Amino acid sequence: MGLMDGKRGIIFGVANDKSIAWGVAQQLHAAGAELAFTYLNEALEKRVRPLADSLGSKIILPCDVGSDEAVAAVFNELEQQWGTIDFVVHAVAFANREDLKNPFSQTSREGFNLAMDISAYSLLPMTRYAMPLMPEGGSIVTMSYLGAVMAVPDYNVMGVAKAALESSVRYLAAELGAKKIRVNAVSAGPIKTLAASGIGNFKQKLRTMEERSPLQRTVTQEEVGKATLYLLSDLSTGVTGEIHYVDGGFNISAL
Ligand code: NAD
Repeated sequence: MGLMDGKRGIIFGVANDKSIAWGVAQQLHAAGAELAFTYLNEALEKRVRPLADSLGSKIILPCDVGSDEAVAAVFNELEQQWGTIDFVVHAVAFANREDLKNPFSQTSREGFNLAMDISAYSLLPMTRYAMPLMPEGGSIVTMSYLGAVMAVPDYNVMGVAKAALESSVRYLAAELGAKKIRVNAVSAGPIKTLAASGIGNFKQKLRTMEERSPLQRTVTQEEVGKATLYLLSDLSTGVTGEIHYVDGGFNISAL
């Protein structure tokens, strides 16, 4: 008996086998869930398709979350194929490299809006189109970072986008609670991924985690996957609107 036996859901954000979304997918699969995946573009499709195939997934769809139509098309396809779903994983983020590198005050208007659109706003259309497919309730989880609540060096515009994302989690949770749809975030410690390669001094952030977090180490993709599994499963039916830290306690540790 798996924790997720009989449950179906979709994962946005696998780029390769280092992706946090892939860590989540492996945990969900091991717990018995049936999974659908999306990929951003053809170049990434080549990486995502074999990974999805390896977990027996039959639904692998293109989706640029910057387009409401593209997000709607994904949920339309899920409705055709499955009728209903139980969960959604939102693990996507984007900011221009120069907007992350430049001093925060120099962030362009266009770059600010782009980071907000892809990294925060996209949770809204995803939730909007998922809702009709969750008549008996469901669970939605997104990925955040400590830079949402503190001025973490080099995180810049992405920190502002994560703050908007975390606030969106609370507003969506408040709105959807009556429909038994829960919305939560996992705030992960730094993990070496494609997206992380755009953050300046990333290696230093990993070292700081090892030096200062209570657990005295960095966290793994697998650990983020396990916490996400908890939030998507019936183990957490009383939990919504929460920002769940998986960072070895770094966020509570004194300098
Ligand atoms: P990743 O590069 O593996 O994943 C980011 C994903 O976002 C990729 O799959 C990419 O294709 C997708 N994406 C970007 N723009 C998109 C668009 N317009 N439409 C659809 N998809 C798009 O990196 P990751 O670190 O696994 O990132 C996943 C999530 O975890 C992100 O929200 C990230 O901010 C968050 N996070 C990462 C860390 C870390 O240290 N790696 C820490 C905390 C939170």
